[in-house]
Amino acid sequence: MIDQPARARDFGQSRPHAGENPPFLLTTSSPGRSQRRLAVCVLVVLVGALVVTAPFARIPLENTEALLPAYAAAVFVNEVITASLLLALFSVQRSRAVFALSIGYLFSGVMVIPWALTFPGVFESLGLPDAGLQSTAAIATLRRLGFPIFVLAYALLEDSGSSARVSHGSARSVILAGVAGVVAIACGSTWLIVTSDDALPGFMKDTRNVAAPWQYVPATAVCLYLVGLCVLWIRPRSVLNLWLMVVLCTLLIEIVILSYLSAGLRLSLGWWAGRLYGLLSASLVLLVLLSEKTTLYARLVRSVSAERRAREARLTAMEALSASIAHEVNQPLASMVTNADAGLRWLGRQSPNVDEARAALKRIVDDGHRAAKVIEGITTMFKKGAQERVSVNMNRLIEETLRRCRDEARLGRISVQAELDADLPPVMGSPVQLQQVISNLVANAIDAMTAVAGRKRVICIRSARRNSDAILVSVEDSGTGLDPKYRDRIFEPFFTTRSDGMGMGLMFCQSVIEAHGGRLWVTDNEPHGAIFHFTLPSADDPPSTAGATVR
Ligand code: ADP
Repeated sequence: MIDQPARARDFGQSRPHAGENPPFLLTTSSPGRSQRRLAVCVLVVLVGALVVTAPFARIPLENTEALLPAYAAAVFVNEVITASLLLALFSVQRSRAVFALSIGYLFSGVMVIPWALTFPGVFESLGLPDAGLQSTAAIATLRRLGFPIFVLAYALLEDSGSSARVSHGSARSVILAGVAGVVAIACGSTWLIVTSDDALPGFMKDTRNVAAPWQYVPATAVCLYLVGLCVLWIRPRSVLNLWLMVVLCTLLIEIVILSYLSAGLRLSLGWWAGRLYGLLSASLVLLVLLSEKTTLYARLVRSVSAERRAREARLTAMEALSASIAHEVNQPLASMVTNADAGLRWLGRQSPNVDEARAALKRIVDDGHRAAKVIEGITTMFKKGAQERVSVNMNRLIEETLRRCRDEARLGRISVQAELDADLPPVMGSPVQLQQVISNLVANAIDAMTAVAGRKRVICIRSARRNSDAILVSVEDSGTGLDPKYRDRIFEPFFTTRSDGMGMGLMFCQSVIEAHGGRLWVTDNEPHGAIFHFTLPSADDPPSTAGATVR
């Protein structure tokens, strides 16, 4: 079914589509402002040229017949190529309207050949038989009146619903039948005209001057052009409709200068000027079709590379997700192994300590739950849509995380301090993710201090109100500090300076904090170490990005 667009009478208003015709075709896309401006400019120039030529229109230009074959060849080539491109469009769109227009162009292009061949004085030297006085004018009449009728058919069929669509699978045979029909009509009508010259209306007085009956031809053509313009004007505005209106205006100017200003005097200056308008009208839609094809090609190239980029981004996201899961789950797994070893040792003693073993098993169970929650947190973090947020007491979260890290810190002879603001307002967020952020920052701080010797190893976590609507948490260490070379890269996925690192921790932290409407950054600690800070909007001022997905 051809699309049934709502009337969009203003240029630039886009047409709605029924979904079957791609919205970027010449027949379905609306002309942009620049195209409309260009169309108006073309018309202004053409009218200007008409005004300039008018006073000299009747000056005869002798011996210019020799130019006629070149003119006819140019028109033939342009119109036949236009017809082929329109037929290609028809094979995609299956629109009867586009088919009618293609046939119109083909007919007009093909009829130019007998017109030139019968033109008095042009091919006589080649020994062609004399076609008779009226033949050329009669062929010109067929061509001149035929084309606007096809344009009218196009405009009327364009909006006539499902009946305006050629059934599936038959485009090729329709095209072949159409081309064969045009060639047959052109040959048949030429033969009829040439063989019955005496029966034709007396359009010509002699080989140069028209007679009175000719006046009906331009008058009828003008009427057809005007009707065509009106019908196209009330149709929804597509790029093709716009340029067809320009074509009809050009033909209108052509007929005015050919038949009225130069009084139909063949080979006069006005007559040749009219021919140039004819050549332009034969080329306009061709130029538009070619430029649209270039635009479509560029669009295709862009969308293919965009699709490739999206596929690569999806792969990177998947890699990031799997690496992130591995990174976050490693911690509870390591703790489970340590506790299982400890439990076995307690049980393997000569007098097994069941209480300690039970405590170790309990820690294993807790770690198992934590790992499960981490996986759940990460997968939901990469899912689209809103994350369920609850009111979170950050101080409690920090204390809980420190309790878990304390053993590891003690092993590394690191002292852990907390300076927490007792009046800290709650934040809205995912407790699992936020706890993971603190635990990552603390784990990084511990890592940064393992190689430090000759000074105190201290981690200090602070929480405070940042201002009336946000809180600030900072994790401070006295470790190696940040290497200025890598400072800008530490938040990138997979960036790590550790032999056993994965480079996912800080990326994860930043993603979580930003998804909560906050910000994470790092500064140097004095005299040694680094401080990671993050802000979060307090619960009384929920973040505007709440529910956003993590990068
Ligand atoms: P990983 O811990 O797996 O290396 P992260 O994303 O957590 O990945 O950290 C990236 C890099 O940032 C680390 O390899 C390290 O070079 C640097 N970094 C992170 N935290 C600290 C810190 N507290 N002190 C010094 N460097 C740090």
